[in-house]
Amino acid sequence: MIVLRDGHRAAIPWLAMTPANSTFSALGTTIFEVMSRLAEQHGAVNLGQGFPDEGYPQDVLAKAAEETLTGWNQYPSMMGVPELRQAVAEHGSRFYGLDLDWSTETLVTSGATEALAACLLGLVEPGDEVVLFQPLYDCYLPIVRRGGGVPRFVNLRLPDWSFTREDLEAVFNERTRVVVLNNPLNPAAKVFSREELELLAEFVIAHDAAVVCDEVYEHLVFDGRRHVPLMTLPGMRDRCAKVGSAGKTFSLTGWKVGYVSAAPNLLQPIAKAHQFLTFTTPPNLQQAVAFGLRKDASYFTDLAAFMAGQRDKLSAGLREVGFEVLESAGTYFVDVELTSLGWTAGDVEFCQRLVREVGVAAVPISAFYDQDPLTNVARFCFCKRDATIELGLERLAAGLPNMLAG
Ligand code: PMP
Ligand code: GLN
Repeated sequence: MIVLRDGHRAAIPWLAMTPANSTFSALGTTIFEVMSRLAEQHGAVNLGQGFPDEGYPQDVLAKAAEETLTGWNQYPSMMGVPELRQAVAEHGSRFYGLDLDWSTETLVTSGATEALAACLLGLVEPGDEVVLFQPLYDCYLPIVRRGGGVPRFVNLRLPDWSFTREDLEAVFNERTRVVVLNNPLNPAAKVFSREELELLAEFVIAHDAAVVCDEVYEHLVFDGRRHVPLMTLPGMRDRCAKVGSAGKTFSLTGWKVGYVSAAPNLLQPIAKAHQFLTFTTPPNLQQAVAFGLRKDASYFTDLAAFMAGQRDKLSAGLREVGFEVLESAGTYFVDVELTSLGWTAGDVEFCQRLVREVGVAAVPISAFYDQDPLTNVARFCFCKRDATIELGLERLAAGLPNMLAG
């Protein structure tokens, strides 16, 4: 038998039973891949998958080119090149006042995706419970399950994607070992308040748990808000593994350079998993990211200001065509509510028809749930040049009324 991409099995004569891990073979293709391929197929404006199409820092690109031509292009140390590990520690100190020892508390990974996998595989023992917030980024759950972890979900509530003490009481218990917190939160575009973080920290400490903090959007927070790493709260310094991504911070999502900051007792098991996932990450890109993380403060504020401007353009246009637009406090994304348009057929049907009939790709929010999904919200991506946003909005203005009427 062979397992096809759609999960079906087909008989082949030379292998009666193809080995396949049930956690992975039960999965469909990720929604980002699905929507991007549909966008290509239908010539649609891709406001689905989150990747920028403008604003790449030229000096970071030039540094990567120079390192490729004249630098070290063989295996670097499995923990990462010292220059990048030092830059990650300095970045933690410069932006958040964290005091990190680069030689024992930083690790370079092949993107945040690998960092998250290394954290979850390295920290979760079969039978351990893992607290996750829904909507949740799609790579967490398969890894938790593959590692034998038992997921416990907190469903965030609209309009502001909040949670309560009672929500935490319902999922934390003596088996809780790990919590995953994505802040700023994809796809909700939420930045958790200090009060929410303090409440979570209280439960984490009371249950002696660790937290995997997915902070890839740490520099994409808007309107004067500040990103507060959970790791900076009292009692949390040695309980958190903080994950960052150069893809997001330098608008170069294809680079797949990530980094983890954590106390040695957490980082060691994470590094053990990392050594057999990828072992290393291209050294030329690591050097370029080290250079980038040391850029002037203005680079980081300009990045957030540019993205906030794109958010405003897309949000205004979405409102004009009739959407109820939810608040976007950070990330690359803005969400819209669909029932206010009179649409009751659900987010998946909405996005499928939008890409085919209107020529605009978005992402259904239900793809970010395992249980009890919201089905009336869609996510649009605004990390695009003006022309892309304008074309998307023109198409929505021209095609959405017909789609809604049809
Ligand atoms: N976490 C979140 C919340 C994301 O949106 C992404 C998207 N790229 C990642 C992790 C993965 O980051 P990377 O591309 O560095 O693997
Ligand atoms: N993080 C991106 C998003 O949310 C997609 C990353 C991916 O395609 N794996 O759109």
